[in-house]
Amino acid sequence: MTRQPRPPARFPLDLDQVHAPPAKRAMPAPSAPATVTTPAARLATVPAAVQRGTALLRPQRPLQQAARDAAAQHAPSGLGLDSAAVRARMVERLRASGVRCEPVLQAFGAVPRHQFVDSALAIQAYEDTSLPIGLQQTISKPSVVAWMLALLFEGSHARAQGDLGRVLEIGTGCGYQTALLARLGRAVVSIERLKPLHDKARANLAAHRQGDVRLVFGDGRLGHPPRAPYQSIVSAAGGDDLPAAWVDQLAVGGRLIAPCNHPERGGQALLVLDRTDQGLTRSWHDAVNFVPLKSGVQ
Ligand code: SAH
Repeated sequence: MTRQPRPPARFPLDLDQVHAPPAKRAMPAPSAPATVTTPAARLATVPAAVQRGTALLRPQRPLQQAARDAAAQHAPSGLGLDSAAVRARMVERLRASGVRCEPVLQAFGAVPRHQFVDSALAIQAYEDTSLPIGLQQTISKPSVVAWMLALLFEGSHARAQGDLGRVLEIGTGCGYQTALLARLGRAVVSIERLKPLHDKARANLAAHRQGDVRLVFGDGRLGHPPRAPYQSIVSAAGGDDLPAAWVDQLAVGGRLIAPCNHPERGGQALLVLDRTDQGLTRSWHDAVNFVPLKSGVQ
């Protein structure tokens, strides 16, 4: 889904990099020993005799196999033991960047992002970067997801009730944001139009699923009438306008947030729609760069 970088946004965030290719940066220096294993660290777990090569006297377990076994023990679950600490540092970076919504920060601290991406990318999971999830789609960078969810929390239902109520998510992708929403809402319906991603999300969420989550394979432009109305609607894909079904399915007191092509500025921006007793109000927020909202299923 990667597009060209866009001009700087007003967020105190690097929103123009929303969907830039993952940077090849090293993990930030940990303040506590992390279990992210380097090849050298993995080798350190190989018995000294094996490292010296004397273990080759035992032909059934040659040096390379022993090193492979040791590496396998640590990857990708090498993030596992200490992933809470790595996540806590990601949460502190989100807080430092201006995200102040405690429920959102707590959800980020609880959901293991590395388990939603390919194991080869797990080491990058807690960097503020988008990552490929297959079929030219990406998981959005954490700072963008955090800002969107924090904006959602400023809707009138969420401010009054302290949760996102019944949530409709368009664009399940790998299911990471679905897992966050499951902690923030009372029930979540998430729609994905690409069957392989719908299946991937189902597998990813099997271990993390909590609360009332329904994954739907279908065209999210139609929303999901059986569970409407929704107090929160959030889309991870953007088009020229908001599909009428989303607006129809938004509850009074509810808030919708979606990337949408800005009629005057050109390019995408976040559009927030609130439904009150008096009707609908729209407000435009920062420039973003999400994948296109497409019709039909594949
Ligand atoms: N929140 C996701 C991000 C996925 S990227 C995550 O955490 O991984 C956006 C997703 O929107 C893609 O998977 C894309 O296939 C999906 N999408 C685009 N148009 C759609 C539509 N009409 N209905 C449902 N999903 C759609």
